[in-house]
Amino acid sequence: MDFLRPATWAEALAAKAAVPDAVPIQGGTDVMVEINFDMRRPVALLDLTTVGELGEWEVTADGLLRVGAGVSYARIIAELGDRLPGLAQASRTVGSPQIRNRGSVGGNLGAASPAGDSHPPLLAGDAVIEVESAARGTRLIPAEEFYLGVKRSALEPDELIRAFRARPATGPQYFSKVGPRNAMVIAVCSFALALHPDERRVGTGVGSAAPTPRRARAAEEFAGRELDWTGAAPLDGALLARFGELAAEAASPIDDVRGTAAYRRHAIAVMARRTLTWAWNDYRGKVAACA
Ligand SMILES: Cc1cc2nc3c(=O)[nH]c(=O)nc-3n(C[C@H](O)[C@H](O)[C@H](O)COP(=O)(O)OP(=O)(O)OC[C@H]3O[C@@H](n4cnc5c(N)ncnc54)[C@H](O)[C@@H]3O)c2cc1C
Repeated sequence: MDFLRPATWAEALAAKAAVPDAVPIQGGTDVMVEINFDMRRPVALLDLTTVGELGEWEVTADGLLRVGAGVSYARIIAELGDRLPGLAQASRTVGSPQIRNRGSVGGNLGAASPAGDSHPPLLAGDAVIEVESAARGTRLIPAEEFYLGVKRSALEPDELIRAFRARPATGPQYFSKVGPRNAMVIAVCSFALALHPDERRVGTGVGSAAPTPRRARAAEEFAGRELDWTGAAPLDGALLARFGELAAEAASPIDDVRGTAAYRRHAIAVMARRTLTWAWNDYRGKVAACA
């Protein structure tokens, strides 16, 4: 197995173009497990840890956060928790401290597992994935269009993930995950919610309850329309129940060793109601403080 070690982003793109079957490795928390268990025997590994740009984040001229694919979960929690609270909350649930120090959102996107914890908050926060190839340059792919199937993404063989871009939170964001225990657990299912009060809109992301992470569009539209954005009145029980139902309807889960489809649907409804309640209570508090 060859081990390719580019020093720059341009070298990494050239290496991927020359050897499209080379498997990128960032934190290695997915790749090394697959190699150790002989699930994968790539012709070459493309080490991205030496590409400095991937470990950086910045605020762009238009105010977006552009976060390099190699920024670890630990750094997202420590450095971006105030601006991307939903993603930071999801990051806190990933693996153990060791996994959070090595693992990255870029790696989570590269793996494109329906159970990946970064996907629901990226969807709820309207993130865009920045990918690049030596031949065709940069493509910006909305998160919703990035996930194509179980462990399949819109990334072409000669492309690498450069970063994700997202607007800093304009309202409360929450993430909730169900698993058999509180740490070191792959989600049985998960749900992320972001309030976008400036647009009177609710963003959602459903995880591990369909072949791909996905948004609960009907639930988003219902809540955006029905919530009392101006008066910030307490949540109505019927509204909350309907929001949960619509979120569950967006899922198309399977029965597997981690949970049944029926349980997943039920849990999505519960998490949707909970995250909306938490977020709305925060929002009401802010509206009251400004009154
Ligand atoms: C013990 C343990 C616990 C875990 N717990 C969780 C958990 O709770 N939640 C969760 O979501 N995941 C979990 N994982 C899985 C893993 O940690 C995450 O998916 C993590 O985000 C992978 O990031 P990485 O940088 O280590 O990726 P890597 O292993 O380096 O790569 C993962 C995939 O992405 C590709 N890739 C990496 N970087 C790029 C790039 N720039 N461009 C294109 N492709 C790229 C690789 O080729 C590979 O296919 C766990 C893993 C372990 C071993």
